[in-house]
Formats: sequence, structure tokens, C-alpha cells
Amino acid sequence: MSASSDHAYKYRVAFGAWINDMRLTPLPLEDWPAPVLDDDTVAGITRALDVQSAAGFTHLDVWGLFATFGWPTDLTSAVDDGRRKRIHRILQAARDRGMTLSYGMGVYSWGYDKILDADPAVRGKLADGSPHPHAMCDANPKSFEYVTRILDFVLGEFDFGAVHLESCDLGCCQCPECAGGKGMVDYNCRLNEKTADYIKSRWPEKTVYVITISWIPIFTTFSQAELDRVVQLGDHIDCLFDQGHTGYQVAPEDRAGFLSRLKCAYGTSGGRWLYPDARWDRGSYFVPFPRYAAETIRREFDEGIRASMFYQGPMSNPGVEVNVSVAGRVLADTRRHADDALAEVLEVLYKPVNQDARARLLSIFERGEEAFFGQWDNERFVKDWGRPMPGEFHLSQLFGTEPGAAHYLLDPFLDAAGRKACKAELISILEDIPKLAGQCEDDGRLEKIERGAIMTINLINTISVLKGES
Ligand SMILES: [Zn+2]
Repeated sequence: MSASSDHAYKYRVAFGAWINDMRLTPLPLEDWPAPVLDDDTVAGITRALDVQSAAGFTHLDVWGLFATFGWPTDLTSAVDDGRRKRIHRILQAARDRGMTLSYGMGVYSWGYDKILDADPAVRGKLADGSPHPHAMCDANPKSFEYVTRILDFVLGEFDFGAVHLESCDLGCCQCPECAGGKGMVDYNCRLNEKTADYIKSRWPEKTVYVITISWIPIFTTFSQAELDRVVQLGDHIDCLFDQGHTGYQVAPEDRAGFLSRLKCAYGTSGGRWLYPDARWDRGSYFVPFPRYAAETIRREFDEGIRASMFYQGPMSNPGVEVNVSVAGRVLADTRRHADDALAEVLEVLYKPVNQDARARLLSIFERGEEAFFGQWDNERFVKDWGRPMPGEFHLSQLFGTEPGAAHYLLDPFLDAAGRKACKAELISILEDIPKLAGQCEDDGRLEKIERGAIMTINLINTISVLKGES
């Protein structure tokens, strides 16, 4: 898909985030993030690439192709022949669709657990001086050697177009020579600068971007001194992502001044997103938000945002498929309104035969979005959690080894009245689906919406019975 550079986000990244988050079949007993890379993983990613490429995304950013928590110390044994072939198949599938893959790279954090066990000299420290469970220490030069060895191995053999650097998601070393010295922001900038410089020196054509997750406590924003430091990091990379899991780290009032000084692009994840759950039945929920996504993408473009890491999920879920399809189209042309992009997507995916069917379909997605998000209340989040509405939210708890409880249908997301209203909207959708019989060539998608609505109503009714709600 062509994109007008005057009106398009430059970096339109479909963020996987992990290899099995896009899987079409569940892994009900696998803890997050599931490391398996089998033919079903490849099938889910390939299906996602179909949707992403049609929507105009440029990159698929996916973690876990080689390792999750722990690279082996020799690195190369992370991939046997079967895994190697599957990685190459995924890379080829992206190229065939005019996209490229981003390598998700932990910098000192994510991927080093086995290395820390085998080579304790590189293990970082927590603030109280005790051993860090996941992070390396930059005071030992061997730590950076592990980073460059991983890059040499991955970028030497596998044709990634970009590298996503993430230095603090599992924490940072807090010793005086690391974050315990000049602070978290300076330390993370330092690590990412030298890693980006290394990549650019060896592979100048690779796009390099950094996300700032966990650099500062949640619900806080960068100070002026920290913003100054991040501006310097911008000289070394192509894009900086302030995703917004719990609000943006660059405060709204600082954004314009910060962007005027930042040499690289600045990106977000579109304001709000549902993080997929690989342990759940992939079709058991229906949470479309194409209108919110489109409106946020357009507004943020006007504010100077030029990059997006838009979260993905299983494309067999009709809500996920429409969210991604609409968001990609608006990212590629921010002149498009939500209604316009959604109407095109429904035309392509559902092929309604007449105007009545077209209008009914559109209404199903509008009611689907309203069913859930129409019940969110910022004051309730503040009251229950002491914090505003989340950027990222989950169906259930992230970690676990069984399909978890439906937290997204509980307070503070939905209270008793919210559950009742949500159920009423879903019932109205169930009433409409039979009226579309023979009116669409939807390849089974309407049946999937029905299934998601039925299972959600099952859960809401179960919660309501247990809570004694009328
Ligand atoms: Zn250290």
C-alpha cells in the first residue's frame, strides 16, 4: 500500500509483541511469554502479516524468535535446524508482503538469565546491593560483549530490517557505576546509545528504535534534565517510542518543546490497547476499538507523532482483525476518518451485499466498541487503583499457567451497571447477526463475532450471579 509521506506516519510498526501473541490456536498452559516456535506460531504470524501488509504497516516487531528470558551462553544453540528454518520462513513471508521484521532485542535486560547464571561476574545489582534477577551490570565490559555477540549472530545471519532496543523492562543494574550513579534515564540512554552506535557502524541500513519502558516510575514524567538527556539519545537512533502503558513519559505540556529539539522520530502505541492472552480461547472475546484508534492516530499526528507501535493479536479474532486493519490504514493516510477506514475494511472483509447489510455491520462494530469502553469511568480507576485509565490492559493476569479469570470484565473496568450495559449491547449484536444471514460473504467472521459475544455474556452472567447482582 502506498502512503503519502505528507500525511503518513513514517514508522508504522505492527507490534507482535511476542511470537505466540498472534497465534490462531491457544497455548492454554504456557506462561507468558510462551517460547514455542512451531508451525502454528508461523501460521499465526503469517496470517497477521497478511492483515498488516494490506493495512499498510511497514514493520512487524516480534519478540522471542530466539529466546525469551535466557539466551544460552554459546548463543547459537538457541536455534536448532527446525527453529532456524521457521525464522527464515517468517522473514521471507514479511519480504513477500513488502514488509520487514524488527528484531526485538533486550539490552542488558530480557534474555540474559542463563548468561547471568553461567557468568556471575556480569550480574547487576538491585538498589539494596543484592543480585539482580535479570539485568547485567555495565561496569563489567564483558556485559557489552554479550550484546554485540548477540547482534553479530542475529544480524549476521537473519535479514531483519530494524532493531527494537529495550533496556529496562525487566529492570536495570542499580550499582554506582550504572543506574545507581547518574540515575535511570542517563544510564538507559548510555546503554542504548552505544548499542545503536554498534549496530549503525556494522549495519548502517538498519532502522534502530528505542522504547523507554520502565526508565522512570509509572505515572511520572521526565524532568527537564531527563528530557535534555533523551534529546541527546535521539542523535543516535531513528525513533524513540514513549508507548504509554500507563500514560506518556513526556508530559503533554512538554511534548511540543521536546519534539522541536529531538532529531529522531517520536512514537506512541496509539493511546490504548488490549494486550492479547495466548492462554485464552482466541475467539472468546470481542473488543473492537477502531474508532478510538483512528481518532487517536489522527490527533497525535497533528501533534507531531510520526511513529506507531500498534499492538497486534490473533487475526482469527474479528475485533483484533478490524482494529489492526483500520489503524494501519489511518497510519498510512492520516487524512482518513474512522468511519471511512472502517467502511472500507468491512467492505473488504465482510463483503456486504447491500446498503442495509453495510449499515448493520458498521453498527455492530460501533456497538461492540461502546459495549465495553462506553462503561469505562476514569474516576472509578482512580478510586479503585489510585490511577487513571490504563493505556495497556489485559483480559486476565499476564503471568500464569492456566487460562485466567476474566479480569477485564471486573471492577474497575466494569462495575455492576457497566456489566449490565455491556451485556445489553452484546445481546443487541446477537439479535442482529441472524439478520445478516446471506447478506455478507464474510468467510465465517459473523459466526466468530457471535461466539465472542456468547462467551462474554456467559462470563458476565457468571460474575453477576456470584456477586449477587440483579
Ligand atoms: Zn552495575
